Amino acid sequence: MTEENRRPIRVLVVDDEEAIRNAYREILCEPGHHKEGAALRDLRARLFGKYAGAPGKSPAARASFDVVFSDQAESAVAEVRRALAQESPFAVVFLDMRMPPGKDGVWAAARIRELDPAVEIVVCTAYSDVDPAEISAIVPPEEKLSYVQKPFHPREVRQTAIALASKWHAERRIVRLAYFDTLTGLPNREQSRSRLAGALEIARERGHMLAVLYLDLDNFKRVNDTLGHAAGDELLRVVASRLQENFRSAPATDDAAQAVDLTSAELARLGGDEFLVVLPNIPDIDTATSAADRLLKAVREPIAIGRNSLVVTPSIGIAVHPGHGTDASSLLRNADLAMYFAKRKSPGSYAVFDGPMNATALQRFTIEEQLRGALEREELTLVYQPQFDVRTGAVSGMEALLRWRNPTLGQVPPSEFIPVAEETGLILSIGDWVLRTACMQAKVWHDRGLPAGRMAVNVSGRQFTLPEFPAQVGAILKDTGMRASQFELEITESVVMSDERWAEQALRQLKSLGVTLAIDDFGIGYSSLARLRQLAVDRLKIDRSFVMRINDCHDDRAIAAAIIAMARSLRIEVTAEGVESLPQLMFLQEQECQEAQGYLLSRPLTTADADSLLRRLAEADAGSRSQRLKVILG
Ligand code: C2E
Ligand code: MG
Ligand code: MG
Repeated sequence: MTEENRRPIRVLVVDDEEAIRNAYREILCEPGHHKEGAALRDLRARLFGKYAGAPGKSPAARASFDVVFSDQAESAVAEVRRALAQESPFAVVFLDMRMPPGKDGVWAAARIRELDPAVEIVVCTAYSDVDPAEISAIVPPEEKLSYVQKPFHPREVRQTAIALASKWHAERRIVRLAYFDTLTGLPNREQSRSRLAGALEIARERGHMLAVLYLDLDNFKRVNDTLGHAAGDELLRVVASRLQENFRSAPATDDAAQAVDLTSAELARLGGDEFLVVLPNIPDIDTATSAADRLLKAVREPIAIGRNSLVVTPSIGIAVHPGHGTDASSLLRNADLAMYFAKRKSPGSYAVFDGPMNATALQRFTIEEQLRGALEREELTLVYQPQFDVRTGAVSGMEALLRWRNPTLGQVPPSEFIPVAEETGLILSIGDWVLRTACMQAKVWHDRGLPAGRMAVNVSGRQFTLPEFPAQVGAILKDTGMRASQFELEITESVVMSDERWAEQALRQLKSLGVTLAIDDFGIGYSSLARLRQLAVDRLKIDRSFVMRINDCHDDRAIAAAIIAMARSLRIEVTAEGVESLPQLMFLQEQECQEAQGYLLSRPLTTADADSLLRRLAEADAGSRSQRLKVILG
């Protein structure tokens, strides 16, 4: 027997005749359980003697009833409404059909059915009173409508009540399983959706503002992974009960952030570590953000699980009706998007949905989704852009550049997918693949005697800040047989400058492997050249934005010239990026810039195209600089 089954069966008896109500009372009420119990107890004692049974002595399995009486149709409907509001609905309603002078039983049955689709209605009629088929048509469904005929036998009423209540319990259990989350007891995704739809209908009718709060725990996966699923489940239960407590309790202080009445809020678990809160009627958005604030604080408190004290933070996204959507789907989607933004920006915070989130986020979502598994599906490739020695026209190096072609998204530029790879940490496995693939390709060219020069690879900040990064590079060099002196890592200046002392150590370790280091996109940050010399940087790559304006912007020309001159004096090599025109190349030559890279000389090339360029250059190798330039420039 379940806990629910052991509780008294809630029954509503509706009859205008007092004698009949008393008869029900006699049949259903346990002695001592009712205010009129004393008189009945007397009667019982006289009728049944020692078998009357004192309270608590009745056999354990004997069903008990919690009966409410009503003498009119209207008051019966009111009782049903009240019971539902108190979350203790009736299992069975015994309903008299004739209750003059008020409304009749058919009217009451129809209202009651509207309010409570689950309740079992028993129509009590005298002979030829009403046609049962007719009532079934007015008060569907047929299987939730039964009949007893007056005058009834006491056992008939009792057994009917017990049988119907047990059917009602069974149905409720099924409903609970289908609509409630078994772990936390909260409404589940399906149930929360229909409740949201209901709340939205009311909000639309009455012109209310309604808020949807989408809540997702930030570090839940780690708890599950490190402490196991039992701990994860326990954590979710604690979070659920904290959220619930927050709604039940009245605002604690006068503090504006605290003074939010959440008692009408609806809470649900959407699955995993995601929860949903609906505030059905709020005066303004501030109320929703204050509520989010309050929930953040409640969940953030340390949670004791076993011997561990855990701190989990949720990220919350907020969308309101009507501003951010008028139907359940768009509100949920927009709250989810806002949550995603909150999490990305700073985990443990909330964000309110705003329009532009939509397009950007959708693209990012798809990129993120598709990027997972891109390596395994072999959608990533490398292209190689030659870097040229300005004085000799020879290829001094190749820069490996990542390309991604995806069946859904097509060709995605690095500027779009690399930031996503960095945020998600996918760059670590992708970066490892890039290093390995570039080394293997360099080895192939070298072994064939092709003049590819050094191989340069871009390294993201996420990779560079890994303590094991130098060791990882060392292992790749060893595995592939790549010569360290021919391998260059390109790091942007912001990464090197962000945590100088730490970067210094990482750079020293990398240098000790024998690889060279280049600062990429130089000139847009604020690095000091002397500092870079100290860090034993080998090369600066002047950012394309300066090179682009060399010929028409006096300042940029002066800056580029100064960088080249200063680098030379510090014995740091310089490569100019993004050289697109001959005048630009001539200016760089005048300034004695050592190397140039750009569309004028060569676009990034597929392995096959790079191969044939290198072959042609190898053939012209014996020739002059102008012959080589002819090969390059066509
Ligand atoms: P970057 O390292 O500064 O690479 C140079 C970018 O400029 C490349 O863009 C290249 O195709 C482009 N470029 C070269 N010459 C010219 C030119 O004359 N004109 C113009 N307009 N552009 C030119 P791409 O391949 O789109 O790469 C963009 C950025 O993505 C790279 O900038 C780099 O920061 C990043 N990236 C590319 N591959 C990787 C990688 O394997 N790992 C990491 N972490 N980042 C990478
Ligand atoms: Mg680069
Ligand atoms: Mg660059």
